[in-house]
Parts: sequence; structure tokens; C-alpha cells
Amino acid sequence: DTPEVPKASKQRVTAKGKDVPAAVETFHELRDRYECPQLLLANLEKNGWKTPTGIQAYGVPILMEKRDVAAISPTGTGKTLAYLIPMISLLGTPISQSSSEDKGKGVRGLVLAPTRELAGQIYNECLKLCQGRKWRIVLYSKATAATLSNKEVRDKTDIIISTPMRLVASLKESKIELANVRHLILDEADRMLDAEFFPQIEEVVESCTHPSLQKAIFSATLPAGAEQVAMKMLKNPIRVVVGLKDT
Ligand code: ADP
Ligand code: MG
Repeated sequence: DTPEVPKASKQRVTAKGKDVPAAVETFHELRDRYECPQLLLANLEKNGWKTPTGIQAYGVPILMEKRDVAAISPTGTGKTLAYLIPMISLLGTPISQSSSEDKGKGVRGLVLAPTRELAGQIYNECLKLCQGRKWRIVLYSKATAATLSNKEVRDKTDIIISTPMRLVASLKESKIELANVRHLILDEADRMLDAEFFPQIEEVVESCTHPSLQKAIFSATLPAGAEQVAMKMLKNPIRVVVGLKDT
């Protein structure tokens, strides 16, 4: 574990876009403002995630308000939780425990990362955050993809964390559907939007056809080319940039 995660007060944050929501100073404000589930807050506490970092202080409210975001924040500043907290909060109830049909069938949360190793790290963070509720979270691999080719299993899955390559392979074989995805996150977006990955990302985005799809991209850096592509992909986005103070 890295103890030296910078607090928001030690960071310089700029957020640009229409109607930027106010940042939070504590995770508890998320409950008053957005009815963020108590269990999530308890899990944050339990894992030693006590004070929001800059990207969390700004990024979580933006995503909770269902806005698209392009978030740029250095490595080690807590980008993963910045998108997982709102995703889990907005999903509300695990599909297996949901009585209503209005959530539709199939995966509602999708996180893409450029490598299997990174996807695994995100998966572990997600499990910690979700402890105590029956969320079905799948780290997509050859093996789990095979399991999910069964529609019944797929329909009970809440969140998939995958590399683009693995997911596109399943899309091509019609072994996965993304029409019910409400939250699409591209992590390490500088790599995801480069020439190698972008065609795959486009395929995934085209398959996420739900009308209220929220898209977010997170990265430590975003070169001009990738930024242009990102802004074209996002709807009325807010752009958040985090830097350390006195750098
Ligand atoms: P990034 O994606 O920006 O490189 P990570 O999401 O991987 O950063 O987080 C880096 C480390 O900081 C992880 O060990 C994570 O658990 C920890 N962390 C995240 N948010 C907080 C927080 N608010 N307080 C303390 N530690 C945190
Ligand atoms: Mg990261």
C-alpha cells in the first residue's frame, strides 16, 4: 500500500465545462448530497481511504451528476476510486437482488484498461469497495468470457473489467452484449485512444447503445491527439486536470 497519496488540499485542480458541480471535502458529504450508500462509505473507511484526493473530490460529484468527464491526474492519485465510487453508487442495487425490471438485462458497468494486469488491479479495488453486497463483478479473461457466453450468467452480472482486445473478441463472436451498459470508463486513456487501441475502443463504444450511457476517461496524461479524440467521444464533458501544488 502507498501511504503517500496526496490529499486534495495539496493539489491544484481545475475543472472546466458547463455547470461544474462543487467538489466535496469529505466522503461523507457524498451521502448527504447524493445518497451514496452507507456500505460504500464504510468500506472506504475500512480500507483506509479516509480523505478524498483531488481527482476524487472533483471527479466523484461530476460522475454522480451523470456527466461525462475527461480526468487527468498523475499516477498514484486515486483515479480508480474516483470512477468506481460513483459507478457503484449509481448502479444502486446488484442486479441479482433487484426486484424491478427497469434496470434491464445484462452488464451495466464496464471498465476498460490497456493491460490484463491493470484490469486485475482495478478488479481488486472494486472488490474491496463492494464488500458486503452481492455485486457480480467479473475480471474478463478467456475463462470468464466463456462463462459469460451463457446469457443467464451474463444477465446476472453487474460489472465487467476488461482489456479492449478481450472484449472485442467476444463482441465479434456475439458472446457479450453491451446494450445495457450505463457507465463506460476508459482508464489509462492516453493508451486507449492511441492508434493501437482506438479501433477496438470505437467498436466497444458503438456497442454501448443505451440512451443514458455515461462515458468517462481517466489518464495521467492526455496528449493533444488523444484529447481531441476523447472530446469528440464525450457528451457535454467536464475536463478536470490535477497537478501538485508548487510544481
Ligand atoms: P492512479 O490510478 O491515479 O494511479 P490508484 O487508483 O491506483 O491511482 O491509487 C493509488 C493508491 O492510492 C492505491 O493503493 C489506492 O488504494 C490508494 N488510494 C486511493 N484513494 C485513496 C484515498 N482517498 N486515501 C488513501 N489512499 C487512497
Ligand atoms: Mg490507475
